[in-house]
Amino acid sequence: MESTAIIRKTPADWRVPPNFRDYAAERQRFDWHAVAGRLSGPAGFNIGWAATDRWLESDRAGKTAFRFLAAGQPPKEMTYAELARQTNRFANVLRQLGCTPGTVVFVLAERIPELYVSVLGGLKCGCVVSPLFSAFGPEPIATRINLGAGRVLVTTDLLYERKVAQWRETMPTLEHVLLVAADGGQTAVPGTLDFASLMATASEAAVGVSTAPEDLALLHFTSGTTGTPKGAMHVQEAMLTHWATGYYALDLHVDDVFWCTADPGWVTGMSYGIIAPLLHGVTSIIDREEFDAERWYGILQEQHVTVWYTAPTAVRMLMKAGAEVAQRYRFPALRFIASVGEPLNPEAVWWGKEVLGLPIHDNWWQTETGGIMIANTPAFDIKPGSMGRPLPGVEAAIVARHEDGSVSVIDTPNTEGELALKRGWPSMFRGYLNNEERYRKCFAGDWYLTGDLAKRDADGYYWFVGRLDDVIKSAGHLIGPFEVESALMEHPAVAEAGVIGKPDPVVGEMVKAFVSLKKGWEDSEALRRELLAHARKKLGAAVAPKEIAILPSLPRTRSGKIMRRLLKARELGLPEGDTSTLEGGA
Ligand code: ATP
Ligand code: MG
Repeated sequence: MESTAIIRKTPADWRVPPNFRDYAAERQRFDWHAVAGRLSGPAGFNIGWAATDRWLESDRAGKTAFRFLAAGQPPKEMTYAELARQTNRFANVLRQLGCTPGTVVFVLAERIPELYVSVLGGLKCGCVVSPLFSAFGPEPIATRINLGAGRVLVTTDLLYERKVAQWRETMPTLEHVLLVAADGGQTAVPGTLDFASLMATASEAAVGVSTAPEDLALLHFTSGTTGTPKGAMHVQEAMLTHWATGYYALDLHVDDVFWCTADPGWVTGMSYGIIAPLLHGVTSIIDREEFDAERWYGILQEQHVTVWYTAPTAVRMLMKAGAEVAQRYRFPALRFIASVGEPLNPEAVWWGKEVLGLPIHDNWWQTETGGIMIANTPAFDIKPGSMGRPLPGVEAAIVARHEDGSVSVIDTPNTEGELALKRGWPSMFRGYLNNEERYRKCFAGDWYLTGDLAKRDADGYYWFVGRLDDVIKSAGHLIGPFEVESALMEHPAVAEAGVIGKPDPVVGEMVKAFVSLKKGWEDSEALRRELLAHARKKLGAAVAPKEIAILPSLPRTRSGKIMRRLLKARELGLPEGDTSTLEGGA
């Protein structure tokens, strides 16, 4: 296998014709106004309405919007019509509780139907909805609710008892807590309201709220990979991006069965686990359980998933489990796979092609961008290791920052610089919660500065180098961790790799690698030497790691990203900082 090879697309790769074929022409003719025309209606510009009621007069009303899976239970289907009714009810519940446009509603639940109804019903009521990951401990929950001045919290009785009840007094803005009974019945907990009873008596008629494109709609906290999570604010018109990227980057077609594996507690699980598929009227699979290689292959097979959106961490875990597991399953319906969240090592792209029969399409975006910005799509060839090209409606550039705060665009291909986006796409964040100063610093003139380093090649493909914070300066070289990690991943023993710069008196920073091993491999001095030699051969002595450590697994955020800052802090014996999003943390 040649890792620099290109994966060419031919019509034989398309089981259905893709939504577009000519990249340049599509960028040329693309117009956000045309998308806006499709999505507005009697509720004005409202994500909740566009995702549900918009289908009521069409043949999609009776179609399954969500199929909820949970271990040991039969699947639960919810049609578009049912979802429209339930979300209307919930919007009316909120209205009765005195919520008005702008009220902040937090949702803390596992991937249960009520979570989806609450999010969309909240949006219909004009509220600002903020989902919280259900595995968060009490402190990150309270911090976020306080930062967002949340007035309403929807959660389950079990989560409330474990994570909220004792800390309720520390959240003075919280007026109403609505509890979903885990056993499907009713709750009677002092100081809370029963979700089911409120829903049972609420009206199914539209709530009658109309929202405007610039009204605040969603509050998402970043993953906390580089520090304390920031609250990014998004508006109703963000759905224009959700629709367009569902069309271009995920290639959603009416008949698709779509599975986004991200939890709605993160922006991916909201933008693509809820909003984009509903805007396209497709059927989404929602699995309540956590990652398990056999379970996931089983879902892809049994649910006839056609389009699958997942993350590098999941792909690496499937790779770790071994190809033999995958080979026990068949995926004849699957036609497109995409990934986001971290750089996708070329090794993983090829693994998809060899083991699943389809290459994995990497795409790039951030909580701040609200939706996919740069992507590999069905319409063009994949260069494994590249994040793809800017989607129609998105202008990207590589820029250099200057001391006076201005930036200049670097036009020379293959030159590293900061990835920037021309401001003004609809799902651009409109602020960091309580941090106007930090928000302002993200912009220079027309450009939003992403904080990621990248380069663009002569064909317009973007290549991720590393986060500005993670770049290693060694003996006058700037080394991106991704390149080093990808080289290590090519060794058959390596399941995942994280690379840091360790202060060194001679070279400034020395490259140190941390890896975990695939099943069947064991830590030994000989293996570590072999890995260092392998990296040196691939990368040359200036870039290759000088030290390597083998760990059982690498520290990750709950959304699955390798936390290099923790590897570094631990290596140097420094404080670990905010670990509220650390997987397995409190
Ligand atoms: P924080 O900002 O709190 O440190 P975070 O940046 O990880 O956390 P997210 O908004 O969830 O929070 O992640 C966006 C970042 O993830 C991007 O800026 C980039 O560094 C990384 N990323 C996402 N997708 C890709 C990709 N396809 N290739 C490379 N990096 C990616
Ligand atoms: Mg970030």
